[in-house]
Amino acid sequence: MEDINVFLAHAVELEREAARRYEELADSMRTDGNTEVEKFFRQMAIFSRKHLALAMERGGFRQLPVLAAEGYAWPDGISPEQFDWIGVDCMIDANNALELARDGERRGHAFYADIASTTGDPEVRMMAQEFAAEEAEHVAELEKWIGRYASQTEKHRLDPSPNNAGIE
Ligand code: ZN
Repeated sequence: MEDINVFLAHAVELEREAARRYEELADSMRTDGNTEVEKFFRQMAIFSRKHLALAMERGGFRQLPVLAAEGYAWPDGISPEQFDWIGVDCMIDANNALELARDGERRGHAFYADIASTTGDPEVRMMAQEFAAEEAEHVAELEKWIGRYASQTEKHRLDPSPNNAGIE
């Protein structure tokens, strides 16, 4: 990818899908009664939108670059943040939701990292590197939440609190 406008058009679409994914995940966490993870996802949706706005500003773009559908060059022909949604129902638990979010971030990271390592354009490379670094941070953040929830689930399994009520 050699054109900063084409790169930004992809980034716009990718971040928009990421924000949409987080909003949907937040909604399903609300259905699930998990306000902690719901809040985290809402925050991530806001970050996606802010990240995008900042990149546009730094690139000096006031208008969203628009490409026709055939102008996009996605791996597998579809925005990397998107395809997990096909067939996902709304009754998922926090662990599943966090894993879906992490997988989306990983695909986003892979997408940017691939562009960064293959482009011949220094401006595209610099921006793709920045976006990839940002996505890597998101993956790490999601991993933290997944670790925390996995250990909570494990603790709950080994020490189900209702049975222990009044024992201590
Ligand atoms: Zn991200």
